[in-house]
Amino acid sequence: MTDNFSKNASQAILHDAESQNTDAQDIDLKEIEFSETKLDTVAAATKDELSKKRVGILGGGTAGATIAIRLAALGLETYVFEKKKSLIDGPPMCHLHAGGNLYREIPDEDCVALLKQCIDILRLYPYTIDVRPTVFAVPTRDEGLPEDLLPRLDILTDAYRELIAQDSNNKVLGEPENYYQLYSHEQLIALSEREQVAIPSTIDEWVIPVAKYLDLNKVKFPLIVVQEYGWNIFRLAASAQLALEGYEHAHVFTNTEIKQVMPVDCENCTNADHHVTKWRVDYQQASRSQPESIEVDYLVNACGFRTGVIDDMVGVKVERMVEFKSSYITHWGDAGGQIPEIIVYGSRGTPEGMAQLTPYPGGYFQIHGMSKAITLFTDGLVASDKASAQPQLPPQYVHYIEDGWDKAPLQARSQQAIEYVAEFVPTFNSARTVGNALYGGQQIPGQDDTLRVADVSLYSNIRYARAENVKASSTLIAADQIVNELTTLGLIDNDTAENRSRYAHDWAYLANNDSLTIDKVARVLAEDRGFPAAMADVNHSIRAMALENLTPAQP
Ligand SMILES: Cc1cc2nc3c(=O)[nH]c(=O)nc-3n(C[C@H](O)[C@H](O)[C@H](O)COP(=O)(O)OP(=O)(O)OC[C@H]3O[C@@H](n4cnc5c(N)ncnc54)[C@H](O)[C@@H]3O)c2cc1C
Repeated sequence: MTDNFSKNASQAILHDAESQNTDAQDIDLKEIEFSETKLDTVAAATKDELSKKRVGILGGGTAGATIAIRLAALGLETYVFEKKKSLIDGPPMCHLHAGGNLYREIPDEDCVALLKQCIDILRLYPYTIDVRPTVFAVPTRDEGLPEDLLPRLDILTDAYRELIAQDSNNKVLGEPENYYQLYSHEQLIALSEREQVAIPSTIDEWVIPVAKYLDLNKVKFPLIVVQEYGWNIFRLAASAQLALEGYEHAHVFTNTEIKQVMPVDCENCTNADHHVTKWRVDYQQASRSQPESIEVDYLVNACGFRTGVIDDMVGVKVERMVEFKSSYITHWGDAGGQIPEIIVYGSRGTPEGMAQLTPYPGGYFQIHGMSKAITLFTDGLVASDKASAQPQLPPQYVHYIEDGWDKAPLQARSQQAIEYVAEFVPTFNSARTVGNALYGGQQIPGQDDTLRVADVSLYSNIRYARAENVKASSTLIAADQIVNELTTLGLIDNDTAENRSRYAHDWAYLANNDSLTIDKVARVLAEDRGFPAAMADVNHSIRAMALENLTPAQP
């Protein structure tokens, strides 16, 4: 493990031009091998040849990286092209929506879908989760009642119980009867008098700081405590990177931008039902002076909020929205120990939108405030039009995404974020801005900006798929759908031990890497991206501590 540990850590630092050059040579060689066999028919092809089919994945965010892990595990030659320096460095994920309780407005069935997807992806990326509950509070100024949420929580509890019945390893959120807990005003007053515990180990202990710091005059009761955990982007990036490094069939090109995609063998291109069986992908590596090309048998567009750019190249018409959103990093030295995530509900886009205080180790806190002065932006939601599938964000936000935030507006919004939270957690006023944010453009397929569950669109006749997840947890389902599509197209045989391993969550990288390996790579990535190394850690890893042992609240 020690050898692996240092090797992987150093790969994390320099996962760029040198390795890409090697990959580029690989491509040339494989290109020759490929052209020698390309006249063979699929029917005559051996299993080995089938597994040499190439898939090009454009974009190495959560979707591209997760789809690549899934396909490389099946033995497909998988090429990922990511223009940034490392994988999964786009819009953040901070909260595993294992029940989608942040969103009162979405249907119950979407919440159940999110629960299932979250448990599934958690088992692919177990080292990315920080096990701590989330406290949901309805403020007195809000029209809703906490009781309104209870029917949904019961549906979620039943769905979780059913998932455990299907596979006992799905019990990753603790006992189903503890999936959510209610705390009355009296219980909170009693807990506020207890001494805070630096490292909580029961639900009551997690709720003590909430009872002490939350302004109990401003919220309705009961408070709801749910087993929705933290999700760490740096650890997700590290996990995906290490997983892909372990597959000989995975070729990851970072610092590489897709310039063009062209059908190679389009039959009846002028016809709406035309067929494409091969795509040429033109890409530019930062370390090379000239663009290069590769032919692939299947194309996956996983370009995040820029999927429309590739749709336009491919020639498909799509309606979608893109939303620019930002959360802010702060440091609060007065928390007195670990605290849960705190959500105060509100009406999205109004000055009283939801406030979300997300804890990280080392006293760091990420803040979302769903008002236009904090996380949302007056002109931050844009839609595609007839001329292009790519919605156009105002240049200012594209500049933030490409070059980083400008200092003054970042400072102003971060300070407003602190004050937003301090309205409900008064002592949070002593928190300080740290001059960084987690933010980006989020794609929303269709025209409903409240949509939270979406995964992939498939275009069988042109061998093209577009990943269009709104939440990062939907990406493994997207990968499954692509595997089914590749099977239908005869590009892969999914009746294999490798494919069955996915459903058993028998992922190769988990056998070779432990939490310490992820720590090391994640810290390098965090610092490289300008964040404190402590933000790459978790207080309670899912493997070290399941909430199974937590006792329910005392009546
Ligand atoms: C503020 C905020 C908070 C969020 N919080 C959560 C959360 O708590 N939980 C959750 O599940 N989800 C959350 N999300 C949503 C989550 O971030 C997205 O669902 C997820 O990141 C989308 O992943 P993706 O791979 O589809 O896109 P991206 O992460 O955007 O990846 C697309 C990649 O494609 C690359 N790319 C684009 N064009 C090209 C090109 N021409 N050539 C090469 N590469 C290219 C980009 O560089 C990028 O890395 C949040 C989003 C935001 C904005």
